Amino acid sequence: MKIVLIPGDGIGPEITGQVKKVLDAIASKYSYSFQYEYALLGGVAIDEMGMPLPKETVDKCKESKAIFLGAVGGDKWDDLPGNLRPEAGLLGIRKALGLYANLRPALLFPQLKAASTLKEEVLDDGLDIMIVRELIGGMYFGEKGREELERGERAWDVEVYTTEEVERVARVAFEIARSRGGHLTSIDKANVLESSRLWRSVVEKVAEDYGDVELRHMYVDNAAMQLVRNPKQFDVIVTNNIFGDILSDEAGMLTGSLGMLPSASIGDGNVGLYEPIHGSAPDIAGKDVANPIASIMSAAMMLEYSFGLEDGAQDIYRAVEKVLDRGYRTPDIMEPGMKEIGTEQMGDLIAEAVVR
Ligand code: NAD
Repeated sequence: MKIVLIPGDGIGPEITGQVKKVLDAIASKYSYSFQYEYALLGGVAIDEMGMPLPKETVDKCKESKAIFLGAVGGDKWDDLPGNLRPEAGLLGIRKALGLYANLRPALLFPQLKAASTLKEEVLDDGLDIMIVRELIGGMYFGEKGREELERGERAWDVEVYTTEEVERVARVAFEIARSRGGHLTSIDKANVLESSRLWRSVVEKVAEDYGDVELRHMYVDNAAMQLVRNPKQFDVIVTNNIFGDILSDEAGMLTGSLGMLPSASIGDGNVGLYEPIHGSAPDIAGKDVANPIASIMSAAMMLEYSFGLEDGAQDIYRAVEKVLDRGYRTPDIMEPGMKEIGTEQMGDLIAEAVVR
C-alpha cells in the first residue's frame, strides 16, 4: 500500500515522523507493508523548487491511494503574492485530486474534558460531531479580483455553487449520517444568499434517497451560536467551504486543543488526503513540544477511508486513549497531576500501545 508523506513546514516534519512510527507499528502488527514516498509542498517546495505545488508532487499523489500532509506556511513566505504562497499549494493539491469533501470529526476524549472551554454539564459524557465541509467550491475558488477606484479600491470573491457540487458532498454527508446517529444538519444562509437557496434545495432533493436520515436546516449564524450553547444536538453537519472552515475550527476548540483534531479529504476516486487541522505552528517548531495526536488520528482515518482497514484504525484510537489514560500529555493539553512529555515520546508511546 503506497502512502505519500508530505511533511511541509514548521512542525510538519516532526509530526509526520510520529505518523510514520504509528503506521509502521500497524504494519508489523498485521503484516501489512506500507510503501512510503516523500513529496514537497508549501514553503519548503517554494525554497527548493520555486513554487508551492510542484508537478512531481501532484503526479506522486495521483499515483497513490493515500496522502498524509503535515502542515504548510510560515512568516518567511507571507509577503509572496497569493498564488505563490504556501497555502496556494494546499488549495491546489485538493483541487488537483478532486477532493471535494472534507471530513472533520470534533471528538472530545473524556480524559480531556477539563481542556474544553465549555462547562462539564454542557459536555455531559463527551462530544462526537462529524463536520462535512465542501472543499473545492464556493468563494475560495470563485472568480476573484481587485480594481482601482477613484478613491481606494474594490475587491471581490464570488460565492458560486452548481447543483452537482452540492449533490456530491451532500451524498457523502448522508452516507456518514446513516452510518452514525442518523441525524444530518445542513448549514447555510438561505435567508440572504442565492447560492445557499440552491444549496438547500439540492440537499432536500438528495434527502429523498435517504428516508432513514433525519435532515434539518440551520442558518450559519444560529449554528455558530448553537455549537457553543448545546453542541450535543449535532451528529453530522454538512456545509459549504467558507462556513465549514469557520465552524469546524469553532467545533474543534470545544474539544480542547487544536493538537487533537484530525481530518480527511475525499473525492470520487479512492485517493484521500489526511491532515491535522492545525497549521505549521512556527512558534513551537523544532522544540519537541507539538502534539502529534491530530496527525496520528488522521492516519487512523487514512486506514479507514483509503484502505478499508477498520481494525487498524480502531487500534490507533484505542492506543491514543490508553496513553491519555496513563496520564501522558503534551504541553498543550497538560493538566496538574499529569506527566508532561514531548512530541517524540508521545509518538513512541502510541506506537507501542498500538501493538500491545
Ligand atoms: P496554527 O494552527 O499553526 O497555530 C495556532 C496555535 O496553536 C499556535 O499557538 C500553535 O503553537 C498551536 N498549535 C498548533 N498545532 C499544534 C500542535 N500540534 N500542538 C501544540 N500546539 C499547536 O495556526 P496559525 O498560527 O494561525 O498559522 C501558522 C501557519 O500555518 C500560517 O502560515 C498559516 O497560514 C498556516 N496554516 C496552515 C494550515 C495547513 O497547513 N493546513 C492550516 C492553518 C494554518
